[in-house]
Amino acid sequence: MADVKIVDVHKTHGLTPAIRGVSIEIRDGEFVVLVGPSGCGKSTLLRMIAGLEDVTSGEIWIGPRMVNQVAAKDRDIAMVFQSYALYPHMTVQDNMAFSLKLRGIDKQTIEATVANTAKILGLELLLDRYPRQLSGGQKQRVAMGRAIVRNPQLFLFDEPLSNLDAKLRAGMRTEIKEMHQRLKTTTVYVTHDQVEAMTLATRVVVLRNGCVEQTGTPMELYDRPANQFVAGFIGTPVMNFLTAQVQCGSVQLQSGTSLPLTEPVADTDGSAIFGIRPEHLQVVEAGTDGALIGTVAVVEPTGSESILIFEWKGGRLTSLIRNRMDFKLGDPIYLKPMVGFGHVFNAQGIRVGAA
Ligand code: ADP
Repeated sequence: MADVKIVDVHKTHGLTPAIRGVSIEIRDGEFVVLVGPSGCGKSTLLRMIAGLEDVTSGEIWIGPRMVNQVAAKDRDIAMVFQSYALYPHMTVQDNMAFSLKLRGIDKQTIEATVANTAKILGLELLLDRYPRQLSGGQKQRVAMGRAIVRNPQLFLFDEPLSNLDAKLRAGMRTEIKEMHQRLKTTTVYVTHDQVEAMTLATRVVVLRNGCVEQTGTPMELYDRPANQFVAGFIGTPVMNFLTAQVQCGSVQLQSGTSLPLTEPVADTDGSAIFGIRPEHLQVVEAGTDGALIGTVAVVEPTGSESILIFEWKGGRLTSLIRNRMDFKLGDPIYLKPMVGFGHVFNAQGIRVGAA
């Protein structure tokens, strides 16, 4: 196991900057997820840690070694890809044993290691099969098994679940998390899926345009997003944003609603953006003071909760409702933000307080 330090790393492909001055410290045993929209540079960063891409400038450290000049095969890492990358002509057993054979490890130890790993991943009954005889989820489990048997100091995952259907993806997510809780190997995991990032990570790094927007635990990012980009990227359904004015210690919405600032807001008198997550926008009784008044545009029940799209003079908003209510399209509806759960962003999109 090892800690990883990324120090002011830049990467340009030809003239195109892909990574622009990224620094991240990953502690020994952490599960760090790099997340961001397509093209933000997360795969490039992971590939540089793996040694599959050169670093244009800056330093990458794995444990006590600066690895910029160390070949991928000498970095003691194991990588799991979206494409599984299994050897098609080898059985599951041989796929998992391959790297150990290359290292010249004795047969008995290899068999014990593979058997033990197969047990962790529930692959015991599949050891004689070939990759073509496996489902997508089973193939991904073999790919993970192949990484685990090597007992590396660092696991790198590059969108490993993207090829799986939604149900299987959720199941594999749990398995990966359990595997990490058991092995405690330092892990860097890349995904564009914020739900995957939130559920797996001990710490999340949100990237955009080759820069780090925010680093924090999943709940830190959710409760205190540093800016409007992170606020809109983390959380589903996405946060609502409303134009607002900050004046004399309160936030005024277009509806005339006034919410007291519950955190100090520095120098933001004037235009602001008010962000409220759908679960913090509550349905209230008709005539409630300061409620946003509108009509029901769409109702999306999921079973345990309903997503309500609501139209008002300021546009469309989303509310997440846990108790059952019988809404019909066009019904009048009154919604109110829960005090203290709103986020106030300044004109530059930086979070400056709560309301
Ligand atoms: P992500 O994994 O977040 O989708 P990537 O790391 O793949 O993003 O890419 C970051 C940026 O670098 C993108 O603008 C992409 O087009 C560019 N890029 C990636 N690989 C290459 C390459 N081999 N040549 C030129 N540009 C590249």
